[in-house]
Amino acid sequence: MFKAIIVFIGLFLICADSSAATARQSVDTIISGGTVVTVNSAMDVIEDGAVAIKDGTILAVGKRAAITSRFGAKQVIKAQGQIVMPGLVNTHTHIPMVMFRGYADDLPLLQWLKEYIWPAEARFVKPDSVRIASYLAIAEMIRSGTTTFSDSYFFEDVVASVARKANIRAVVGECLLDFPTPNSKTSEEGLKYTEALIREYSGDRLVTVAVAPHAPYTCSPELLKKALELSDKYNAPLHIHVAETKDEVSDLELRFHMRPVGYLDSLGLLTARTIAAHAIQLDTAEIKVLADRKTGVAHNPESNMKLAEGIARVPEMLSTGVKVGLGTDGAASNNDLNMFEEMKAAALLHKVQTWSPTVLDARTALRMATIDGAEVLGLKNKTGSLEAGKDADIIIIDVDRPHLVPFYNVYSLLVYSVDGSDVDTVMVAGKVVMKDKKLLTINEQQALADMRALAQEIKKEASGLNEHLEGR
Ligand SMILES: [Zn+2]
Repeated sequence: MFKAIIVFIGLFLICADSSAATARQSVDTIISGGTVVTVNSAMDVIEDGAVAIKDGTILAVGKRAAITSRFGAKQVIKAQGQIVMPGLVNTHTHIPMVMFRGYADDLPLLQWLKEYIWPAEARFVKPDSVRIASYLAIAEMIRSGTTTFSDSYFFEDVVASVARKANIRAVVGECLLDFPTPNSKTSEEGLKYTEALIREYSGDRLVTVAVAPHAPYTCSPELLKKALELSDKYNAPLHIHVAETKDEVSDLELRFHMRPVGYLDSLGLLTARTIAAHAIQLDTAEIKVLADRKTGVAHNPESNMKLAEGIARVPEMLSTGVKVGLGTDGAASNNDLNMFEEMKAAALLHKVQTWSPTVLDARTALRMATIDGAEVLGLKNKTGSLEAGKDADIIIIDVDRPHLVPFYNVYSLLVYSVDGSDVDTVMVAGKVVMKDKKLLTINEQQALADMRALAQEIKKEASGLNEHLEGR
C-alpha cells in the first residue's frame, strides 16, 4: 500500500511537471541565475535572475524562478554567482589602427600624426591589412565585453564584413577627407563608396553604415554639406571628430570666425544622428548647442589623456542634457580597446578635474558605456540594456576572482574593479561569440599570427622610423 502511494505521488509529479513543460513557451536560450544588471530606466538589478532569448531577441528578463516557469529552452547558460549585463558600446574607434599599437608613443599630437601615423597609414593601410587588423581588434573587443563598436577608418567594407562574420554589432563609416585616402583618390569617390555601403547593408541586423567626414578642419564646407545630404537621404548616422584640439579651434576661428560647434551648426551638421567624437575644447554656449540639437558625444578619456589634448567637460555636458557615450579611440592612441578601462578612466578623470569624488559616479559611468552609448549611436531600441524586445547583446562576468571579492555594490564592482579579462561569456543578437573565455567566431591564434606577420612587414619597411624609435 505504502509503495502504491509512492508510485501514485510519483506519477502525479511527473504529470504535473510535463503539463508545466508543455505550457512553457519554447525559446532558444535561457541565461539562468546570477546578478542581472538590466540598465533599464529604473536601473533594476535582479538577484538570482534570468533572461529568455528567442531568435536573437530578449523575450523576458526577471527572477530565475519566474522565467524558468514561463519558458523552456534548448540551451541553458548557467550564470549562478556571476554578473549578467548588457554588452558594452564603444562609440568611437578606428579598429584597424591596432596594427599601429605601440608603433609611436609619447609624442606631441601633430608630430605623432605627421611623422608617424599618416606616413605609416599611406604605406600600410590596404584591404588585406585592414582585414587582419579587424579580426584582431574584434577578438580583443569581444574578450573585453564590447558587443557594439562605432568605427571610422578606411576600407570600411572590410571592417563591416569581418564584423558580420565575427557576429559583432558595428556602425561603420568610411573616413572622408579633402585629400586622397588609402581607399579613395577624391572625396567624391569616398562619398560614392559610402553610399554603396549604405545600400549594401540596408536593413542588416548587425551592421549600420554611417557617413564619416573626418573633422571640421580636414573637410571643406562643401564636403561637410555633401556628407550631411547623404546622411539625410538615408537617415544614416554622421560620425565626425569635433573640437579635439586647441589648434582646431584657432584654425576655424581664423578661417571662419567661428568655433567648431558653431561652425558645424551653421552648416546644419549637428543633428540627433550626429556622433561628435571627443568634443574637448567646448565652451558653455557650445555645450548648450549640442544639447539643443540632441547631438551625442563620444567621450574618449584615455586617448585624450595620452595625447594630452585636454579634458572634455563631461559633467557639464551631462547636467546640460547632452547625451554622452564612451569610446576608446584607435589603439594607437590608447593603446587598447578595453571599455572597462575606459569606464574607470572616465569616472576618475572627472573627479580629479572637478576636485569632487561625487562627480560621474559608477552608475553614470556604466550607463555611458552601455545604454547612453547606444543612444549616441541611434541604437537605443536595439542594444544597451537588458529589456524585452531588444537584441540579446549580453555579457557574463566571472566574479570568482580575488580582485572581485567581496561584492557589495554591483556598479562599484563593475566600474572600479572588473577588468575586461574577467568577461567569461559574450552573446551578440542571441549568438554566443565567446563561451568560458573561448572565442567561437574568430580563429584567435590565426588572428594573432597574421598580425605578428604584418607587424614584421611594417617594422621592416619602416626601418627608418624604427631606427628613430629605437634611438629614443
Ligand atoms: Zn578618433
